[in-house]
Amino acid sequence: MRRFQQYIDGRFEDGMATFESIDPATGRAWALMPEAREADVDRAVAAAERAFTAPAWAGLTATQRGRLLARLADLVAEHAPKLAEIETRDTGKVIRETSAQITYVADYYRYYAGLADKIEGAHLPIDKPDMEVWLRREPAGVIAAIVPWNSQLFLSAVKLGPALAAGCTIVLKASEEGPGPLLELARLIDRAGFPPGVVNVLTGFGPACGARLTAHPAIARIAFTGGPETARHVVRNSAENLAAVSLELGGKSPFIVFADADLESAVNAQVAGIFAASGQSCVAGSRLIIERKIKDAFIARLKEKAEAIKIGSPLDQATEMGPLCTARQRAHIEGTMAASIGAGARLITGGKRPEGEGFYYPPTILDCSDVTASAAERELFGPVLSVLTFDSEEEAVRLANATPYGLAAGVFTRELARAHRMMRRIRAGVVWVNTYRAVSPIAPFGGFGLSGHGREGGIEAALEYTQLKTVWLNTSEAPIPDPFVMR
Ligand code: NAD
Repeated sequence: MRRFQQYIDGRFEDGMATFESIDPATGRAWALMPEAREADVDRAVAAAERAFTAPAWAGLTATQRGRLLARLADLVAEHAPKLAEIETRDTGKVIRETSAQITYVADYYRYYAGLADKIEGAHLPIDKPDMEVWLRREPAGVIAAIVPWNSQLFLSAVKLGPALAAGCTIVLKASEEGPGPLLELARLIDRAGFPPGVVNVLTGFGPACGARLTAHPAIARIAFTGGPETARHVVRNSAENLAAVSLELGGKSPFIVFADADLESAVNAQVAGIFAASGQSCVAGSRLIIERKIKDAFIARLKEKAEAIKIGSPLDQATEMGPLCTARQRAHIEGTMAASIGAGARLITGGKRPEGEGFYYPPTILDCSDVTASAAERELFGPVLSVLTFDSEEEAVRLANATPYGLAAGVFTRELARAHRMMRRIRAGVVWVNTYRAVSPIAPFGGFGLSGHGREGGIEAALEYTQLKTVWLNTSEAPIPDPFVMR
């Protein structure tokens, strides 16, 4: 079995214990992972705390930090095949997606490499003649970064990139499901030349490793991506250190199609929105909200495409859909499907696990129009599309916003004025019009409501890893006047 190590204070080491990582395509263990316990977390945070003020890191100019990030971007691009292969083995995500995603990962590091020396403070035109006042943007401190199992390389790049550009140091906790790619990334971070302790990468289970990290007194900021239930633990943990918290949580994103849309394009985008990555994407367009007069034609075309999806080994370049990451995830989907069908939802295709090994689940479409079905309300994190039907724009908006989440939305229409009305009225952090699942390092990303708060990507994300310091300088030679009056 392959063996991975954790990375603390510039050294690779075994954890206090190990656990087996399961290959979701076979259901069998393929690698041994280090399991960080509280003492490992404490050592990693202490290393990050020392590195934060050590001259090897704190003494670098912003341009020099940017150069280190640029080197990391090059190394990620150079080692893309290996990283993609490990991510595919460890999480079941198909190789064509993991390979393509690594390109964005390198792009994100490159974007923040360029941004490092453009994080500027300000000079304030204060109304006191003898005073010069500046705002300095200083790094926030030691960051706890926590990611879920899907897209760990991508979800950590959107945290490490801006945090390192801003001058922070980091303890990154990989998910206990499929941590291999991040432990491999640690090797590239080391080779890029970041001083010891600037980035520490470990993995372990939520209650021990995650809870200790997020409650640790030396943590200044927590950047968390995961589910809302875990987020509640994280927020409670942060009552200990009063760290700033950003939350990137899940969604139940509406995918709205009006009758005037380019239907072939909308069908393809819907396939991408719900069946790519086997639906294990926070932005999955998992609620199709379709105008009644085109419903039958649209669903017929979608069903045809869903049934033609090539399911197989995630390591095969031809495979379009692989397994789910965990057996638990599949059991959760099966339970929700049974309850929803019991409540009157109509199965259009899929819904039955295939024979054989691995955690596979087929592309599934469920008509939930006019029934109350949990499949249309709860995030399933799998290849299950719920269909809802509308007759008017007003009803489409109501259905789209009838969720406590607000991460993403898709609108398909060729009518310009309607597209503008919809993008204003939909409650979501990202609205895609006539496209879906597009990302860029330049564009901030994040949610409303139960989908979290804070933004990743873009300049805003780097600013979130800074704190403002106001500096007052008295330029007058005159003695300080009346000490009992505020100046
Ligand atoms: P999860 O919430 O179970 O776990 C996420 C991380 O939190 C893991 O590393 C886990 O070990 C850690 N954790 C668990 N308990 C903890 C605790 N008490 N304290 C601190 N950390 C703890 O999520 P998951 O099942 O791995 O991933 C799926 C979820 O992630 C979905 O809800 C999905 O929508 C969401 N997600 C959101 C985004 C986004 O950008 N908005 C992206 C991807 C995934």
